[in-house]
Amino acid sequence: MSETNQTKPEVGVSGRKIIYDKDGKPCRSCNTLLDFQMATGKVSAPAKKDKYREDPPDVEKLGNSSWTFIHSLCSKYPEKPSTQDKVEINGFFNVLSRMYPCTWCADDFKKYLKEHPLDNTDNEGLNRWLCGAHNEVNKKLGKKEFDCNLWKKRWRDGWD
Ligand SMILES: Cc1cc2nc3c(=O)[nH]c(=O)nc-3n(C[C@H](O)[C@H](O)[C@H](O)COP(=O)(O)OP(=O)(O)OC[C@H]3O[C@@H](n4cnc5c(N)ncnc54)[C@H](O)[C@@H]3O)c2cc1C
Repeated sequence: MSETNQTKPEVGVSGRKIIYDKDGKPCRSCNTLLDFQMATGKVSAPAKKDKYREDPPDVEKLGNSSWTFIHSLCSKYPEKPSTQDKVEINGFFNVLSRMYPCTWCADDFKKYLKEHPLDNTDNEGLNRWLCGAHNEVNKKLGKKEFDCNLWKKRWRDGWD
């Protein structure tokens, strides 16, 4: 291995290739934070873990990843949705409430959907509705409710 390769890791902790800027420094916004910190020597590389041999997700990991996906998807719902957009977002939530892998979570979600039909009129309506649906689960689990006025900062625009 050349000296350059020794000082400039090619692969990060995440298993992704480290991306370098034209000046040869690790790119801050092209790498994961941990990979960037490792490549800049701020943290040492932890023992290698084979990401392809992780266990299936438990209820927490599945839930967190799912909410991330669902909120991110809904954050891009159009301001003026077409009829097709409306039909497809209804279909998405119907599938979710039928097929979410945690079956007792899915059953409660299906009940919520029936009692609180989703608001597909526009971007704001859908995201407010989703925030309410997520808060219902938070309440059930004894967690703090999220302030729905902040949904855009959390899922679309960022905090500054
Ligand atoms: C459809 C669905 C139903 C579920 N039902 C159950 C269940 O019945 N029982 C169970 O044990 N688990 C259930 N879960 C999982 C549970 O909701 C959590 O995902 C899990 O407990 C992990 O919680 P967390 O603390 O990582 O944060 P999560 O609740 O996963 O939230 C992730 C992030 O979303 C943000 N957030 C939190 N609340 C809101 C909100 N109201 N609006 C916008 N953003 C918000 C916060 O920044 C938070 O860090 C369900 C998940 C889904 C997707």
